[in-house]
Amino acid sequence: MAKRKYVYFFGGGKADGDTAMKNLLGGKGANLAEMANLGMPVPAGFTISTEMCTVYYQNKGKFPPELRVAVDKAMAGVEKIMGLRFGDPSVPLLVSCRSGARRSMPGMMETVLNIGLTSKTIPGLVAKTGNPRFVYDAYRRLIQMYSDVVMEKAAGVEPAEGKGVRQQLERELQKVKDAKGYKQDTDLTVDDLRALVETYKAKIQAVLGKSFPDDAQEQLWGGIRAVFQSWMGKRACSYRRIEGIPDEWGTAVNVQAMVFGNMGDTSATGVAFTRNPATGDDHFYGEWLPNAQGEDVVAGTRTPNSINEATRPVGTEHLPSLEKAMAKTYKELYAIRNKLEKHYRDMQDIEFTIQEGRLWMLQTRVGKRNGPAAVRMAVDMFRERLITAQEAILRVAPSQLDELLHPILDPAAEKKATVVAKGLPAGPGGACGQVVFTAGEAVAWNKQGKKVILVREETNPEDVEGMRAAEAILTARGGMTSHAALVARGWGKCCIVGAGAIHVDAHARQLAVGSTVVQEGGWLSLNGTKGVVYLDRLPMVIGSEENPYFVAFMKICDKVRRLGVRANADTPEDARKARQFGAEGIGLFRTEHMFYGKGAEVPLFLLRKMIHSKTVEERRKALDELSPHIKADIKATLEAMDGLPVTIRLLDPPLHEFVPRAEDERKRLAKSLGIGIKELEARANALHETNPMMGHRGVRLGVTYPGISECWLRAIFEAAAELRKEGKKALPEIMIPVTCDVSELRDQAKLVKKVHAEVAAKYHVRKIPHLYGTMIEIPRAALRAGEIAEATEFFSFGTNDLTQMTYGFSRDDIGGFVPAYIEKGLLPADPFQILDTLGVGELIDLGIKRGRATKPNLKVGICGEHGGEPASVKFCHKVGMNYVSCSPFRVPIARLAAAQAVAEEAQEPKGKKGHK
Ligand code: ADP
Ligand code: MG
Ligand code: MG
Repeated sequence: MAKRKYVYFFGGGKADGDTAMKNLLGGKGANLAEMANLGMPVPAGFTISTEMCTVYYQNKGKFPPELRVAVDKAMAGVEKIMGLRFGDPSVPLLVSCRSGARRSMPGMMETVLNIGLTSKTIPGLVAKTGNPRFVYDAYRRLIQMYSDVVMEKAAGVEPAEGKGVRQQLERELQKVKDAKGYKQDTDLTVDDLRALVETYKAKIQAVLGKSFPDDAQEQLWGGIRAVFQSWMGKRACSYRRIEGIPDEWGTAVNVQAMVFGNMGDTSATGVAFTRNPATGDDHFYGEWLPNAQGEDVVAGTRTPNSINEATRPVGTEHLPSLEKAMAKTYKELYAIRNKLEKHYRDMQDIEFTIQEGRLWMLQTRVGKRNGPAAVRMAVDMFRERLITAQEAILRVAPSQLDELLHPILDPAAEKKATVVAKGLPAGPGGACGQVVFTAGEAVAWNKQGKKVILVREETNPEDVEGMRAAEAILTARGGMTSHAALVARGWGKCCIVGAGAIHVDAHARQLAVGSTVVQEGGWLSLNGTKGVVYLDRLPMVIGSEENPYFVAFMKICDKVRRLGVRANADTPEDARKARQFGAEGIGLFRTEHMFYGKGAEVPLFLLRKMIHSKTVEERRKALDELSPHIKADIKATLEAMDGLPVTIRLLDPPLHEFVPRAEDERKRLAKSLGIGIKELEARANALHETNPMMGHRGVRLGVTYPGISECWLRAIFEAAAELRKEGKKALPEIMIPVTCDVSELRDQAKLVKKVHAEVAAKYHVRKIPHLYGTMIEIPRAALRAGEIAEATEFFSFGTNDLTQMTYGFSRDDIGGFVPAYIEKGLLPADPFQILDTLGVGELIDLGIKRGRATKPNLKVGICGEHGGEPASVKFCHKVGMNYVSCSPFRVPIARLAAAQAVAEEAQEPKGKKGHK
């Protein structure tokens, strides 16, 4: 057997790997290889594959001997291209050791820079560069990173809060700065640094009981080991859990020749996005720092400068842009930006370093973006013909579209509110909540059901769980590419960073802006789109439908999708909202809605009267009184949906649900029926059922009390006939609930026929257009769909009840066990949220096939909660439904998911199309 290849070289205009090899090389390694292949200036290096990560953990942290051989060989290749030698006293090569998983996990894993600086190599580098300050600056950084990443974290040392070696060293640095009155790290002189590294080494010895290694090879292997070790680090694991990244993927290690952005004023480092990741507009967008090393920009310790004039944020006028400060290099970078976008056909997130005027590319990857930016970029790139309609559709995750449908601060209230601070708009949308100062508090308060804003000096990867729990994140420091900004954007969370006026005192649990102090628990409201922080709690509104990119994007989706999208709506207001969101009809109109809530008193009283009637006569009288109310209600919704179909379900719930509990209500009812309270209670008790969910409800009511069905049918036909007379196009679809056999539908069909004839005669019309169909929500109905289709024109799968009946899980009682099932991995997800395609889905598939075998043009839809859940919508597309129906706010999501189903189908290899 041939030996496995674990090490992949890149540099000098070519590479062993390419961008398609992300699984093996990790995202960073694969794209470094790709950029090298494209002839871009990439410092030479090599990638140790993710497979070695697996081997490393299988062998309990031992490397196979062939790895050492391969690394030595690759290092020789790097040395040749760079004209330097690793560990050599006269021409020393320094390298970085960088992590890189398949999918980027911003800041979650470790990187060590400047590896190879030792007492042997330092003099050589000083002689070669003539810049001792730079050399000692690089050395102190190496010591800081290495002691933290390799000697502490990777070694499994868990220091107490504030006692980590990195923090202790940073305190030493601060001491020197304070003593000398320096503001910036760049103020430190070579002598300061020389002294500082000695302090560092002593401190490390004291804290960790080990000395900092003074051997290049030892440093290198320590770094490689630490990167693999960081894959199983606490924060990386918790990030993976949130993002659903499997532990088995592993990370790769990239060893790469160092280039230096900290060699003086003609050197710099930066991070950029080929388009603005917060808004999506087509501007090269980024940040840079002169005389700095990579991690300085991301760490958010210095406020970075903007890369060009066009994207300069307010408040940074005093900082020169790269465009102005290094015009020639900026042009070169801009050309690479264009080339990368053309090549990858997507927005890229890049890292670069300029060493004495020479540009080097250190990373590129598909950039994270929030929902509004994703939508805008998809539309723009489609219009630029960079991508196809189908690609545009796949560029926006349903959850990102959801962000556009999310609330913002009420603009009217915002005008009157008190501004406490301004920062960079890192994650748009609005949020308000109570202030907390640690990630732990954020999680704890959130558990108590409180809405919190996590306020930090700057966030670090340890804060992710708290950031997740918070409504929004606010930091005093950091730029648009800081950790907080990246993570918030990935989650579509409202976020403001670099609000420099805020003084965070996490110890005292308060923040201060000038004389304004906000204690823990105080309320703040954030406008993450503008970067404005307000005092107090502002009202929120839904904002977005006017967004022209949203509208354009939905048009692209509508062109591609084949599945119809309707809404579940019970009131004319909901119906109008549904239309606004693009619903093509109502898939479920629950008529019983009119008996709940505001304005329901009169119809509810009449319904109760009907329920408590004893004789057919009594019941008829009550129904006759009730009918006009039902008609008015149905008519208003049919009118709002003028020209679009409305599926109206006949009375569904068990009657006992409507029995009044309040004493005075019972008295009033008894009086109106002319009976005593005892008699009323006897009648009410007679309605009691042991298992009402499976009791006397749905079509069973219509079978036993045909008058109830007739009442509803009359209301529907009269409403439709009247609207037609008024010149409106009413399209009612009569839906019978809770059926299990065709006989029930034949029984009710007779009533439909009879009432239709009566109402048609009354309004002097020959026909009132309508459809007749049923909900399929009992497994038997799905199984007998072949016959049921003989008596119906449409099916609507009621997947809430169908899931309940198929699993035998009571919808109202799953709280007791389903969470445990999910935790233990017995269920992949809550089947009431995500359609169980294997079991419930098989019934649906079967039902459709059997129904259409009888009636090929049978109309089929879904009206459960699943109709707005993206994965379930895709399933509905696959099994050939005509439409899905969901809550009005989910309609755009369903339209997108339906379009994605088509786009994904087109991507599948031929012959695998459709549902098996
Ligand atoms: P992360 O995944 O956290 O971004 P990286 O591996 O990209 O970590 O490295 C952290 C920082 O160090 C980045 O800014 C990167 O550009 C910089 N960096 C990494 N390797 C080198 C190198 N060989 N030369 C110069 N800078 C480097
Ligand atoms: Mg990086
Ligand atoms: Mg039901």
